[in-house]
Amino acid sequence: MKIIKNLGLIIFLIALALFTALPFFGSYSVESREAVEQTLKPEEMALFGEEFIAETQGKTYSDSWGIVSPALKVYHEKNDALIAAQDWGNVVYSTDKDLGLRIARMSQNGPVSQNKGLFLFLTFGLGIIGSLMWIIPNLILDGPPGIKNDGVYHSSATNRGWIGIATAVWLIGFYIVLYFYPWLMVESITVADPVKGLFIAGQQASQWFLYGMLYVVAMVVMGIRMYIKYRHNKYQMVRTTSVLFFQIIFAFLLVEILPIFGLPGKDLKNAMPLDYTFLYKYNVEQLLDAGMFGLFLLIWGFVLALIVVPTLVYFYGKRWYCSWVCGCGGLAETLGDPYRQLSNKKMWAWKLERWLVHGVLVFAGLLTIWVGWHTFTALSGPDGGDGQSTLLGISAYNLRDWYGFLIGSIFAGVIGTGFYPYFGNRSWCRFGCPLAAYMGIVQRFKSRFRITTNGGQCISCGNCSTYCEQGIDVRAYAQKGQNIVRASCVGCGVCSAVCPRGVLKLENGPEEGRFGNEGPIVLGNDGFKIEV
Ligand code: SF4
Ligand code: SF4
Repeated sequence: MKIIKNLGLIIFLIALALFTALPFFGSYSVESREAVEQTLKPEEMALFGEEFIAETQGKTYSDSWGIVSPALKVYHEKNDALIAAQDWGNVVYSTDKDLGLRIARMSQNGPVSQNKGLFLFLTFGLGIIGSLMWIIPNLILDGPPGIKNDGVYHSSATNRGWIGIATAVWLIGFYIVLYFYPWLMVESITVADPVKGLFIAGQQASQWFLYGMLYVVAMVVMGIRMYIKYRHNKYQMVRTTSVLFFQIIFAFLLVEILPIFGLPGKDLKNAMPLDYTFLYKYNVEQLLDAGMFGLFLLIWGFVLALIVVPTLVYFYGKRWYCSWVCGCGGLAETLGDPYRQLSNKKMWAWKLERWLVHGVLVFAGLLTIWVGWHTFTALSGPDGGDGQSTLLGISAYNLRDWYGFLIGSIFAGVIGTGFYPYFGNRSWCRFGCPLAAYMGIVQRFKSRFRITTNGGQCISCGNCSTYCEQGIDVRAYAQKGQNIVRASCVGCGVCSAVCPRGVLKLENGPEEGRFGNEGPIVLGNDGFKIEV
């Protein structure tokens, strides 16, 4: 079994190395003027098409940066001149990311674009096979069912050692390229084309399709690990199945299938304010143009955020979303499970958490008001124009840009996932997610959810605190026989699962007495009582 495991690790590392090296497999050149004309939009062609063709004619570049950077350089030079001259009618509003990726796609040659299926197998296929060969033998090697966390603090991968740091560097690099320089990963995106073609024949994958595919693959493979690790625990088995179901069906398949029928491909479970683009003008316009289904999605967006979310948090706590439905939570609970012990339990971290997460909630609220105002004035105005993009002198576009950059990309992606091996698996959910903050307020002040503790049984081993991904010092509550009612608890249930004494129980019950400390705090087996 150990041989199979080690072989699996080698196969996985080969696949990972190949995936990482893909950007160096291509060569890039402009084939013809027609290719450029078909790739650039008419206004882009008019702005800088001729200069781009003249600059790149007859040249072959060994990486996508080489061909994209002169294009972006001349694009910005020309556009900046128009802006300086206030020639707004001719200014082009393409983003570097979109433009750069289109140019890289148009000009790519080499083995990957000519053998997409083969490279799909060599990267994704071998990666999945290798991972499963590493994971499945644990069914036998780990012995009887039960959580085996032995050695997590002695492993370099799970205790911020060199493997953990290398993993973090890879993840951070991946997110930076994905969000800001997608043309650098054009060969990796190309590998996803055959899968994209299963939905719409001949259509090319985008960086977001590749990301969605990777996300699903990572969650399914690490979900199998969860099934093996927690196979004695019904709550964990059902919860893992739930996050996989919502990610595969709602966040991936439906988003791809709906456009086949001419409908907007939206993730129906993505609630405001986590979905911060919901009220953006382009999104509302797209929904309004999509007939009855679009109208349903528009109404559903408000109903979900304002009625469904708080109502379900009232009855079941925020676990119904964070640990059963959400994609970020789903990745944290599968791919991130090996890192849950790295969450910071210090008091300063708790204080920072409250300031940060509620600060992001306020930022998201302001963004919603500004963007909503802009969209409303644009769509209700007589000319159907661009609407009033400023309110109280602040531009909705500026707020959009800053929120998208700081929160949507850096916090949620680069820090939230990139730093799994350093800060633990829930740093985004704990410190940054505005939806978690919103649900946390409901959970803290108006919910039937609590974790009850049978303090007399607690042996103070600290397993619960160690494996709480939200950094809650569960043991401190258990020692005092206090119920745990915390805004940040995502109800993952792992504290209860790792407790050797059955002290902790996740419950929904009457609001009255949910804090459970109206009476005396019991220390030991009824040995001491402290009146509160
Ligand atoms: S207190 Fe328990 S259920 Fe809540 S987040 Fe921490 S480990 Fe999960
Ligand atoms: S895991 Fe159980 S026994 Fe150990 S400290 Fe926590 S509540 Fe007490």
